[in-house]
Amino acid sequence: MPARILNGNEIAAELRAEVAEGVAQLTASGGPQPGLAAVLVGDDAASAVYVRNKGRACAEAGMHSETFHLPVDTPHDVLLSLIDRLNADDRFHGILVQLPLPAQIDEATAIERIAPAKDVDGLHPVSQGKMLQGEPTYLPCTPSGVQQVLLRSGYDPAGQHVVIVGRSNIVGKPLAALLMQRSIGGNATVTVCHTRTRNLSDITRQADILVAAMGVPGAITADMVRDGAVVIDVGINRVDDRLVGDVDFDAVAAKSEAITPVPGGIGPMTIAMLLSNTLDAARRYSSK
Ligand code: NDP
Repeated sequence: MPARILNGNEIAAELRAEVAEGVAQLTASGGPQPGLAAVLVGDDAASAVYVRNKGRACAEAGMHSETFHLPVDTPHDVLLSLIDRLNADDRFHGILVQLPLPAQIDEATAIERIAPAKDVDGLHPVSQGKMLQGEPTYLPCTPSGVQQVLLRSGYDPAGQHVVIVGRSNIVGKPLAALLMQRSIGGNATVTVCHTRTRNLSDITRQADILVAAMGVPGAITADMVRDGAVVIDVGINRVDDRLVGDVDFDAVAAKSEAITPVPGGIGPMTIAMLLSNTLDAARRYSSK
């Protein structure tokens, strides 16, 4: 039986429609129009596309968004003062600093400068600390997008062995924290692998749910996957002008229960979760 394709475009569209409904309710009840400030430094083509897509998705959901585009040689302090201004600007309930940033800017300091109340990317240490402790907070968009794809497709991670390959601060590590929480969408038994993991395929073959977040095209081959596993491919890699994931899609799809494609899998979910966090931020602002 060929694998079920988990269509991230469809699930994300469902989520965006829910967000649009939430925005309409909030404004109808006298609340603010949710606003997102996106900060883009430099001219990285992929980053520019991501930011443009985020802006378009905001508009479709009835949100206000503005992009603050700074030149590639922007000094660190100039970026920090822009973030300070946005922190104080009531039109924006969420702030997104598009990564990666040019070398002269310290990424961690820039993210820490965002007011935690506006950290809709969920990457601030306060947000990540709260998530780790199971407190309500903004969840990082790509990990929570993975969680939503699983839940909304009927693959509750509870009790499942989830193997995550990748331990970055934006995907692997927070995803592990999220899926092991004692809460809905959590309760998984999680193993995290990386480049120092020995016998990687022995471990990936034990996964009920296998998540690839490595940034290595086609790295997860069919022999690394158990028959009937659910496979989530977070990777987005450009190869010969084509986007491919970290999973050798055709061969792995032939033996798995379900799989996310690239493109059209986790990518669109990331944007949908950003909108959802921005709506939450505006709701919190209005109930202050
Ligand atoms: P990073 O490069 O920050 O992290 C990659 C991780 O994978 C590292 O922990 C690395 O291990 C591990 N890894 C790399 N190669 C191997 C290997 N051969 N065996 C085992 N582990 C390996 O990448 P990101 O987490 O930022 O992104 C991962 C992928 O996800 C990329 O393709 C990126 O484009 C994509 N992405 C997609 C998003 C979306 O919206 N769908 C959002 C964010 C990212 P070590 O720590 O030991 O180096």
